[in-house]
Amino acid sequence: MSSEHQHRARKRFGQNFLHDHHVIDNILAAVSAKPGHNIVEIGPGQGAITEGVLKATEGHLNVVELDRDLIPILESKFNHYEGFNIHQGDALKFDFRQLIQDEPLKIVGNLPYNISTPLIFHLLTYHKDITDMHFMLQKEVVNRLGASPREKNYGRLSIMVQYYCAVQPLFIVKPGSFHPVPKVDSAVVRMVPYTELPFPAKDVKVLEKVVRQAFSMRRKTLRNTLKGTVSSEQLEALGIDPSARPETLSVEQYVKISDSVS
Ligand code: SAM
Repeated sequence: MSSEHQHRARKRFGQNFLHDHHVIDNILAAVSAKPGHNIVEIGPGQGAITEGVLKATEGHLNVVELDRDLIPILESKFNHYEGFNIHQGDALKFDFRQLIQDEPLKIVGNLPYNISTPLIFHLLTYHKDITDMHFMLQKEVVNRLGASPREKNYGRLSIMVQYYCAVQPLFIVKPGSFHPVPKVDSAVVRMVPYTELPFPAKDVKVLEKVVRQAFSMRRKTLRNTLKGTVSSEQLEALGIDPSARPETLSVEQYVKISDSVS
C-alpha cells in the first residue's frame, strides 16, 4: 500500500483531495504555468495539482502545507525536482514576501474551504506582487467573489476583492471529483490584481470600515447603516441616494463615501 493510501483525510484541515484528471487538466490549463514563473501552491495535499505545475515550470515550485503528515508524501513524490520547496506551516500566517524575488507570484490552490475567505484577505495584502491567483473554492464563495451590485451574492467580499482584482469565475466542479466527497459544489476562479487600482481609496482601512458597516444590516438603507459615519446630506452631495440599500452600490461609490470621510 502506498503512503498516499495510508493518509486519512482530515476534516479540520479541510481535506478533500482532487482525483478527477479532467478537472486537474482544466486547472492546469487555466494556470498556464511556464518555465521562469514564480509559483506557490497553497495546500498541495497529496500533490494532485503539484505534479502538473512542476512539469510546466521545469521543476520550480514553492508549496505551503499545514498538515505535517503530508510532508513525507510530498517529499517522496517531488523531491527529485531541484526547485521544489516545501514550507510546512499555516498559509494564513505565512509571509509570502519571502518568496517574491524578481518575479511576482502566481498563486494556485485547491483551498481548504474553512479558511478561504481569511486567506484571500491575507493574500490581498501582497496584491502588488501577485500576477494572478487561481483557486478552487466553494461555488457559493466564487459567486460572492464575482458578484455585481444588486446580485444576491454581492457583499463585503465582492467589494473588497474587486477593489484589488479582476475576478473571473471559470468552471464548476462537482463533489464526485474529490475524495472524500464534499457536500457542496465547488468552482475555480481566477483573480488578477490590478497593476493600477481602478478606484484607489485615500485610506483602504476606512473603505473596509465603511463597507463592513454598510453591510452590517443588509435590509436597511444606507442612511441607517452608515449613521454616525456619513450623513444623508453628505451622501446626496456625492450623488448617492441615502435610501438606497447597501447591495446596490458599486466599488467606485463605496470609495467615494470612504474618501469623503477619510
Ligand atoms: N491540493 C490538494 C488536492 O487538490 O487534492 C489538496 C486540497 S485540500 C482541499 C486542502 C489542502 O490544504 C490540504 O492538503 C490541507 O492539509 C491544506 N491546508 C489546510 N489548512 C491549511 C493552512 N492553514 N495552510 C496551508 N495548508 C492548509
